[in-house]
Amino acid sequence: MTAAYHAPMTGTSVIVNVDDNETARSKRTRILREAGFVVYDAGSGEDTLAKVAAHQPDLVLLDVHLPAIRGIEVCRWLKSSPANAPVLVLQISPPATSAPEAITAFNSGADSYLVEPVDPAVLIATVRGLLRLRAAERELADANAALREVNLQFERLNKELQRSNDDLQQFAFVASHDLREPLRTVRTFVQVIQTTLQDRFTDEERKCFSYVINAADRMDRLIDDVLSYSQVGHNHRDKHAAMDLGYAVYSATESLKESILESKAELVISPLPRIKGDASQLGNVFQNLISNAINYRSKDRPVKIEIHAVEVADGGSWMVSVRDNGIGIEERYHEQIFKPFKRLHGQSIPGTGIGLALCRRVIEMHEGRIWLESTPGAGSEFFFTLPAARIESA
Ligand code: ADP
Repeated sequence: MTAAYHAPMTGTSVIVNVDDNETARSKRTRILREAGFVVYDAGSGEDTLAKVAAHQPDLVLLDVHLPAIRGIEVCRWLKSSPANAPVLVLQISPPATSAPEAITAFNSGADSYLVEPVDPAVLIATVRGLLRLRAAERELADANAALREVNLQFERLNKELQRSNDDLQQFAFVASHDLREPLRTVRTFVQVIQTTLQDRFTDEERKCFSYVINAADRMDRLIDDVLSYSQVGHNHRDKHAAMDLGYAVYSATESLKESILESKAELVISPLPRIKGDASQLGNVFQNLISNAINYRSKDRPVKIEIHAVEVADGGSWMVSVRDNGIGIEERYHEQIFKPFKRLHGQSIPGTGIGLALCRRVIEMHEGRIWLESTPGAGSEFFFTLPAARIESA
């Protein structure tokens, strides 16, 4: 919804001028018309109500001492009807009116109050001031209504997003379970055939069988990775807590112990901060980045992986980096490799192409950013930001 714009009420505003004294009323009507207002006269309470109903004025200039019915009563009637509530009432009373009566005027709903004799310039300034105030009130009310609408839409979208996220997660969970079932059957029977017929295989058949087993293993890894990817959802934010980032690195290196030993990778880990996050998901991020550093190593030199963290100038977050001395990545791929299934090196190096997509999803769920710098042939450095652990959450 867009906010309706009310032009500031100036010359075109409509006024009902109420006074039982015809001379005084005509004089005021002339002053108001000269100031550019559209003015209708009323000489009694009933006449006032009829004119208000007919002309929907912006303001009623009301003499409080009307015959038969007091101006204050007219004011009450006007303000008690929801249709007339936005109509401004400026009361004018004789000089003898005492202070308590002025208070009664305000209590009956008058928006302002002038005492006879009223200077024409003061009258015009008061009327314009009241109209400006009302225009500002309306604009504020419109802005508030628009804001409420935007908030409602935002809430609706958020709920839809949450629902579709949950659906996706549920779908990935069920699909991966159902995919694993036939895969398990294939593997079991391939193994049975392999053990019983192995001796009779020709070299060609043995090679074919190893392709089948490799494909089944790869399918298994893909299912695992798609499942992990789908599980990094919004509903995991409540698991974010103050934690030592060093612990996430430790759990990653524990899981990668064998490949670290086998590749003789040297790991240089600087002191790491306490941050706010999900320990298990951040462990996955380090596991992916470290295993990539090992997988995409250079044949010319021993693997060296360095992990550092520096506090970002605002003090509210940390920038973490994982640097390797591997084969590097051309700049044109720096964005693409964060997309699911995007791989640059074919099946010569095994992988599913999900690792960096998962890293980006995890870091974004931590309200951070992930990117890289790289020199092909010399190595890559992946950077990401994470929120610092605040004192109260530490
Ligand atoms: P995977 O390693 O399973 O293929 P990733 O999403 O982790 O999937 O990485 C996507 C691609 O980005 C990899 O296939 C590889 O080509 C490239 N890549 C990732 N990390 C590195 C790295 N440290 N050095 C060189 N290339 C990398």
